[in-house]
Amino acid sequence: MTVTGIVTVTVNIILRRRSFVKRFDHESKPKTRPDLCLSSPSCNAATFWYTTASSRAGAGLPKLAQHAHPTTGTPLVTCVDQCYTANNASDILTADWRETHIQLLLSRPCTPTKEESLTHTNPPESPYQSVTPDLIRELSDIVGASFILYDAPDRMLDYSHDEVPGEEHAHMPDVVVKPDTAEQISEIMKLANRERIPVTPRGAGSGLSCGAVPVHGGILLSTERMNRIVEIDRDNMVAVVEPGVITGELSSAVREHGLFYAGYPMSVELCSIGGNVAENAGGGRAIKYGVTGRYVMGLEVVLPTGEIVRLGGKRVKDVTGYDLISLLVGSEGTLGVFTKITLRLLPQTTVRVVLLIPFEDVPSAIGAAPKIMTQGRVLPTSLEFMGPLAVKTVYEYLGERPPHPNIGAMLLIEVDGTSQEQVDTEYNAIIDLCLDLGALDVYVGNTPSTEKRMWRVRQEIAEAFLAICPVQSIEDIVVPMAQIPDLMPELERLSQKYDVLMPCFGHAGDGNLHIHIVKNPETSPEAWQEQLPRILTELYTAVAGLGGTISGEHGVGSKRSHYLPLVLGPVLIDVQRRIKKLFDPLDILNPGKIFPPAEAG
Ligand SMILES: Cc1cc2nc3c(=O)[nH]c(=O)nc-3n(C[C@H](O)[C@H](O)[C@H](O)COP(=O)(O)OP(=O)(O)OC[C@H]3O[C@@H](n4cnc5c(N)ncnc54)[C@H](O)[C@@H]3O)c2cc1C
Repeated sequence: MTVTGIVTVTVNIILRRRSFVKRFDHESKPKTRPDLCLSSPSCNAATFWYTTASSRAGAGLPKLAQHAHPTTGTPLVTCVDQCYTANNASDILTADWRETHIQLLLSRPCTPTKEESLTHTNPPESPYQSVTPDLIRELSDIVGASFILYDAPDRMLDYSHDEVPGEEHAHMPDVVVKPDTAEQISEIMKLANRERIPVTPRGAGSGLSCGAVPVHGGILLSTERMNRIVEIDRDNMVAVVEPGVITGELSSAVREHGLFYAGYPMSVELCSIGGNVAENAGGGRAIKYGVTGRYVMGLEVVLPTGEIVRLGGKRVKDVTGYDLISLLVGSEGTLGVFTKITLRLLPQTTVRVVLLIPFEDVPSAIGAAPKIMTQGRVLPTSLEFMGPLAVKTVYEYLGERPPHPNIGAMLLIEVDGTSQEQVDTEYNAIIDLCLDLGALDVYVGNTPSTEKRMWRVRQEIAEAFLAICPVQSIEDIVVPMAQIPDLMPELERLSQKYDVLMPCFGHAGDGNLHIHIVKNPETSPEAWQEQLPRILTELYTAVAGLGGTISGEHGVGSKRSHYLPLVLGPVLIDVQRRIKKLFDPLDILNPGKIFPPAEAG
């Protein structure tokens, strides 16, 4: 499909507030909420009509606009930043009206493109107002006109999604703002409350739960300009950073001061500290060093209502009042926008060794994991697990021969420390133990290049499955470590029942496994849309039955919100909803995340 150009037309018009689409067929998927359906004479339309607001009153299914593709004659409907092929104009909309101004983006010719075919997922009765030119002007006054994206679908597209595959999860913001200070964010939040516009905070957009996707449109608040390391305080062993600092850059910066930042999501080179705090990110070192929250000592936060508050600081201990830092960490951008973060640092480790250990089957590999700690008395830095399908596929993808012909599962273990002697003792203890427990072999990486090659096997698994089929659901379940083998038959059963691939790999040391549910390329998109919720429900139910939950580190976001009632009872969901309401009475900050729609739980 090609697009030859996009034109922007500003139309001041009495139009109907988004309220609803009856049926909007595009690739047979139900579409919801076009903000507005209109066309313009400039769109070369063969037919064009527009029904005035007055003639629409009580008219049931008014036709807002329809035109035909200039060459094929296919009926087309243009919706703000979208252009869909409609089967029938009377399928389009019904809604209630109010006066507003809107800017229309019309593609010409109106052929569906990637950005134009995004799904809108607003509930039928949106409590939010549209972004108007007046609001854009006020936002420009706050952050400066050059730090606003509006009317630029090609440049705004990047802000419509995170790293969750699938266009059905994406949603275009109405406007992207890039503030530079807490004060600017405070003003934006006050304005958004006044005008009832949703605001979605975004760090680097590497999330895997659609947390930074503006599912209700409105303002996308990017922290990309707030990327300064404010202070590295060696004496107190803390760093103070702005939220947009990339995690890997902080690690490198503190290393120069002989210090160590322990946070290590596998996306370390992509993600930001603000996103790590909002998701309470874990990663490859959590077994020894814990997750992000362990290192958050202080936060400067803009509350959803616009007040700026400061919690904690450089002091190590603090039991004064409720522990609000712990509440905000992992709140997925729903309770406040972090504008400064004080992080605890550790002494820099200087020695590390990586081990790659193939086993004949999953139970032997998983069985070894706790014994490394209990019998071997070693707390490894990383203890990663790769199931049989993951191992086979990643080696094929890398074009390498697996390290042993009979691999049924593999562990990747890293040990670090400040003394060579201690690290040698620890990794030798692990080798001896694993060989006793049936390891097929042990490979040792103790130079930067061998360590990197070993980690690459683990890190490339996701890419290997994307190469098979990009349509997939990336899952992040967690079960008690010893229950991992009990989950394997269930994965096998689901994989066969639904004819999908379900590779399993991840942080075995803390029971947090990533299961990628990969669509069979032969399965139709419609069948996939129908089967995925059923697979997820069965998977999550099994996980809950093992004492686990639906996300260990990626968060609930909007991707998993419908499934929250499978693992949290109504009382707990209600308590959390009330906390949200206390912070954000108008549900302005990152709505549509964590909680299922009210009627679903
Ligand atoms: C290849 C790959 C590997 C990954 N590996 C891991 C892993 O090992 N462990 C892990 O935990 N995650 C992992 N992730 C997921 C992701 O990188 C993390 O969730 C990360 O913390 C997101 O950071 P971000 O800056 O990209 O946040 P975004 O995706 O931009 O946002 C994530 C959430 O944080 C909120 N948010 C962002 N900034 C702020 C702020 N300043 N104030 C308030 N809320 C804010 C957003 O609203 C959203 O809800 C991986 C992702 C990829 C693509």
